[in-house]
This record gives sequence, C-alpha cells and structure tokens, in this order.
Amino acid sequence: MDCHECVQQGRTATAVAVCSVCGAGVCTDHVRSESEMLRGPAHPGKVIHDRAARRLTCPVCRAAEESP
Ligand SMILES: [Zn+2]
Ligand SMILES: [Zn+2]
Repeated sequence: MDCHECVQQGRTATAVAVCSVCGAGVCTDHVRSESEMLRGPAHPGKVIHDRAARRLTCPVCRAAEESP
C-alpha cells in the first residue's frame, strides 16, 4: 500500500501505518502517532492497569480532531 498523502502530492511512498480514522495508508513522514489512555485512573493500592495505547492517524484526521 502507498501513502495516501504522498500520492495526493504526486509522490509515492510505502505506507508503514494505517490511519485508525479513515483507513488511509501513511508513510513515516505523514503518520501521526499519539498515546491514548484506555482506562481511567486505577484504584488506590491496586496495580495500575491503564496503559497508553498507540493511535496512528493521518495528517488530515489529526488536524480535524485538533480543531474545535
Ligand atoms: Zn507520505
Ligand atoms: Zn485519516
């Protein structure tokens, strides 16, 4: 699969990830990676279960989510 963003710019790059929102392939230059907490705070005294999940998106979806 090729990077969708690069194709739009007339280039070709191998996609290394898939946008979790729109499903477009994104290369290393265009992938946006962020951590997302899946669970709320753990109860006091318990083993912490919340772990940061990785979320990969394309620049378009990233920008759309950042806008108010
Ligand atoms: Zn690209
Ligand atoms: Zn996307």
